[in-house]
Order: sequence, then C-alpha cells, then structure tokens
Amino acid sequence: MPLKTRECSLKNLEQIEKTLKDLYSKYLPCLDGHTADYIPELAKADINQFAIAIVTVDGEIFKIGDSNKNFTLQSVSKPFVYGLALETHGRELMLTKVGVEPTGDAFNSIIELEKQSHRPYNPMINSGAIAVSSLINGENLTNRLQHILNLFENYVGHSVSVDENVFLSEKKTAHRNRAIANLLKHFDIIEGDIEESLDLYFKQCSILVNTVDLALIAATLANGGVQPVTGVKVLESDSARDILSLMFTCGMYDSAGEWAYSVGLPAKSGVSGGLLAVVPGKMGIAVYSPLIDDRGHSVRAMKVFKDLARVYDLSVFSSGVRDGVNK
Ligand code: GLN
Repeated sequence: MPLKTRECSLKNLEQIEKTLKDLYSKYLPCLDGHTADYIPELAKADINQFAIAIVTVDGEIFKIGDSNKNFTLQSVSKPFVYGLALETHGRELMLTKVGVEPTGDAFNSIIELEKQSHRPYNPMINSGAIAVSSLINGENLTNRLQHILNLFENYVGHSVSVDENVFLSEKKTAHRNRAIANLLKHFDIIEGDIEESLDLYFKQCSILVNTVDLALIAATLANGGVQPVTGVKVLESDSARDILSLMFTCGMYDSAGEWAYSVGLPAKSGVSGGLLAVVPGKMGIAVYSPLIDDRGHSVRAMKVFKDLARVYDLSVFSSGVRDGVNK
C-alpha cells in the first residue's frame, strides 16, 4: 500500500519542522566516524547521506534530508525478527534459546557465549540474533526469508527486497559470525543447518529500507503493534512491549547505559547507519547516516537523538514537569 503523508495536526508542527531543519544543518558538516568497512559493500556508502524522520502514532510524517535513500537494516532487524520468533514459539521456549540480559560487551562478542552462559545473553547481539534467525520456521531458506520479508512489509506498508550485493559481501567476510554460529551449534542452541541460519541472518540484515520506513517501524511499536498509516496489526501489543524492553536494556549494546542516561528511549542501531527509537504511545523517530562510531552506532544519529531528547524531553522517565534544564 502506498504511503500517504497526512496533513499535520500537531500543535507544534512548525516547531518540529524547524527543529529538524536546525538539527540537519547543525550536523550535516559532521564527518566523524567511519563506514562499516568490515562488510566491504558497506564501505561504498556515500558519507554525505543524512536523513531524519518522525512518524507519530496518528500517522503524521515529518522528514528531512535523504529520507528516500535506501540502506540495509543490519542490526535494526534484530528486535523485529525476535518478535516474529516470540509470537511463533512463546516466551518459555525463547528463554531456553536466548536470554534477556544486557552484556556491556560489543555486538559481535563471542566471549560470554564460550565462557559462561552457553546461551546468548540477549537477541540484540549477534550471537542472540543468529540463534533467533535459526528459530524462524519454514521448509527452506526461501520460505523462511519470505516470513521475514512479509513481516517488514507489514511494518513499512510496501514491498521490500534484499540487497544481494550486501548479502554476498557479508557472507564472504563473516568469519566471526561463522565462529559464533558454530559455537551455537556446539551448545545445541542452533538445531538446524548452520549455513542456512547464517544465510537467513545475513539476508535479514540486507533488507533495504529508507529513513521514513525506519520511523514507521518504530511508530508501529509506539502504537502497540498497529502500523499507524495502514492500520495493519503487525504484532500483539504484548510482543511490542517485550521488544521495547529488550531494545531499552540491550539495543545499544555497550552504549546502553550512556544512551539511557542521555536519550532515555528504547532504540536499535545498525552498522549501515540507521538508528531508530520509540517514544511509547507517541511516535517513532529514525536517523540515517553511514558514518559510525567504534560501537557500531551512526555518529550523526547519536548527536541528533541526544539533542531531540533534550529539546522535547523525550525520555521514558520524564515526569513531564520541566523546571530547569540540567547542564
Ligand atoms: N550484519 C551485521 C553483523 O552481523 C550487523 C551488525 C550491526 O548492525 N551491529 O555484523
């Protein structure tokens, strides 16, 4: 279904548009960070690309910059594929395969899997996400991928496809993820074929979206699982809530504490440069810019979110009372 940008009815419409314009021009010159060159195809990204989008639970869309430019989901896919597995298998089974504890380690860490738990700590790090992909049902890879594509089509309201070049590029160079998958198989977390689970994981990471799509995905969670423009029920409200809890505690990996302190919203980043955050009951926000920091988060996006959270007092812990702005 084609997206429609509805007439804006927010009282502070002009203020939001001005804020987006200001943030865009403030951070456009910022060229800090680097592209995710461990996946060679991602190193080709245009570092000037920059976009911000907001979708409210009423379906109102605000956008600025290169908001139509497609990029791959990468780790932004993780919470949503987890939601699909959760709705298929239920909490009890999911907990036998993947925990719900933050690690404070990098997204691609292997150490905690080997040393202690023998079960991934959470579904936001690669070990957990690969385990989750292995739980997506279907007779073969094509079938299993179709379930994931259908899911994201419901979230964004139009058809989506896989960037085969990014997929192949990651598949060829994913030595660390392959090591993780082998350990998962050794510990009986992955039951099926290792290569098929990895392929499915690389494919879900290579699904193409733009910044408005990301904001729509975030807004669907903000809206209790109902896509705010199409009205399609994408997932149960309980699942949306569970995903948000995991995004809050684990979505930003080893930056989760700093993020909670400075932004205070459930969020998920991806190494291609997308970052989405959810203001429950209100809106989804997304930023895209391919220059990332050493923890895999878009540098411009981090800056935009910190400013936005401050201007609009977005933290989920906000009382709504503002009698002073801390320095
Ligand atoms: N596909 C990427 C990987 O597994 C996703 C990582 C990310 O976005 N943080 O390394």
